[in-house]
Amino acid sequence: MFSDSKNEDVIFPWDKERLLQNQDIFAHFQDPSIEYYGLKVIGGNDDLEEMLLKRFPETIKMQYSKTQKRSYPMNLCEHCKAKQGEYFIYRRINDMIKNMQEIEVLVEA
Ligand SMILES: [Zn+2]
Repeated sequence: MFSDSKNEDVIFPWDKERLLQNQDIFAHFQDPSIEYYGLKVIGGNDDLEEMLLKRFPETIKMQYSKTQKRSYPMNLCEHCKAKQGEYFIYRRINDMIKNMQEIEVLVEA
């Protein structure tokens, strides 16, 4: 979702201009290998988490994060069950948007 809105999905083709308006420019300077687009992903949004927990009960589960020192829903790798938390997912989505790579969008029924 866009970080500048309550519940607006970021959809393809990616609006990089808008995503860059809310870019975390400080973080980007610290680590230029990631754009730090103005995005909210799992880990930072309660409504999103509730929806994803219901939709994907097999792969999205409450897990404790040592980095964040709290529990929140994380994706579990379908192959090895490794935890994929907020930063992992945020980083991947940043890469996909940067490369204009399409992502399958879940539309809530
Ligand atoms: Zn894996």
